[in-house]
Amino acid sequence: MSDKPRKFKGGVHPSDSKALSASCAIQDAPLLDKYVVIMHQNIGAPPQLLVKKGDVVKKGQLLAKAGGFVSVPLHAPTSGTVSAIDKCPGPTGISVPAIHIDADGEDEWGSPFEPIANWQNCPAGELRQRVWDAGIVGMGGAGFPAHVKLSPPEGKEIDTLILNGAECEPYLTADHRLMLEQAEDVVLGAAILARILGLESAVIGIEENKPDAIAKLEEVAGKYHVRVQPLPVNYPQGAEKQLIYAITGREVPVGKLPMDVKCVVQNVASAVAVADAVVKGIPSIERVTTVTGRPVKTPGNWRFRIGTPIAKALELAGGITEQPAKLLLGGPMMGIAQSSLGVTVMKNTSGILLISSDEVSLYSSEPCIRCGRCVEVCPMSILPATISQAVENKRFDWAQELNVQACIECGSCSYVCPSHRPLNQHFKWAKVEIASKLRRRND
Ligand code: SF4
Ligand code: SF4
Repeated sequence: MSDKPRKFKGGVHPSDSKALSASCAIQDAPLLDKYVVIMHQNIGAPPQLLVKKGDVVKKGQLLAKAGGFVSVPLHAPTSGTVSAIDKCPGPTGISVPAIHIDADGEDEWGSPFEPIANWQNCPAGELRQRVWDAGIVGMGGAGFPAHVKLSPPEGKEIDTLILNGAECEPYLTADHRLMLEQAEDVVLGAAILARILGLESAVIGIEENKPDAIAKLEEVAGKYHVRVQPLPVNYPQGAEKQLIYAITGREVPVGKLPMDVKCVVQNVASAVAVADAVVKGIPSIERVTTVTGRPVKTPGNWRFRIGTPIAKALELAGGITEQPAKLLLGGPMMGIAQSSLGVTVMKNTSGILLISSDEVSLYSSEPCIRCGRCVEVCPMSILPATISQAVENKRFDWAQELNVQACIECGSCSYVCPSHRPLNQHFKWAKVEIASKLRRRND
């Protein structure tokens, strides 16, 4: 493996706006009187409810068990009483089932498992089971169950573990602060993940715009044979396929997974969650999230319990200084626009971002002028303008022929489009239509 990263094709350089929160140390959010834990927080099957209204729960207690192999359990973010099993606004705007917990203020632990202090001698299968039992998902935004990536099928060899610390999305600084403030935990998590995969070492990929975090990680990386790999700043450097290419030179074919090129990628926040679950016996009940944007009074990075209402998170950041035009969960490139403040922090909520009206007013859509910029920047070498045209004409079969499935929804094409075409939305729409056609055909 070379120390010189490769440059993937395409990519863009949006203004990163990270200065708003990059120097803000992580603050622990105070205990709230109420949490609303959204049930389905992972890609795959939703978990199965284990509690009912009126149940008294302890912090860390199981609220729901995994609903299948590609699913994770949910745990109580604090001690208290289940006040309702009801709906709440979900991140896609549709109401979703949620567990409402009235906190008792005691924050009393009832973790379902013990620390594994001697993890170096613990069988890999037991460590993998712990990752699953702790409910850990890809915390960079994907929400894919971490244990599934750690379970390559029989005969599938893995030779490289990459920790994703690129955090290439503008505005977001939660992973940056985590790597800076908890470098030892990141490296410990990497070592545990490597042991589960039967590897001796791991690589942390991190963009060069975080020199303080790079230095901190390098100080401690040697303890567990972890290598820190600085990467050029180029969005979407943190997309799984682009990260694998930059570090190993291997290309993940369309429709294939990182493990098909002998790689496993885990986010740095997930690695910290793994270290907590194994060494301290703590399930996934909190995460570091950046609350930011020009309309936010005091942007920063907070450690929130899962189930914290977004309205509360914004209140902790001092509220707003101007009426925002948009609220996003995640960053401006791949984040999901919200229509309600009722949604709550989930395991994959990397950022809460308010966009001001002068930033949004730039974006009214015009007809395509065939400038070709979208094609130049697309890291997946597909034809965004033509696919968009197919989708506008509801020609989803054509979009499929043009390989819309290869799109990683990075938003680079939308970012450079001088006509502000809603390209990324078109591709998401096409994928939903193609998937539902496939389902109908298989039914
Ligand atoms: S077509 Fe998809 S992968 Fe290509 S730039 Fe646009 S969003 Fe990114
Ligand atoms: S960047 Fe926009 S205007 Fe230019 S070709 Fe692509 S879709 Fe058309």
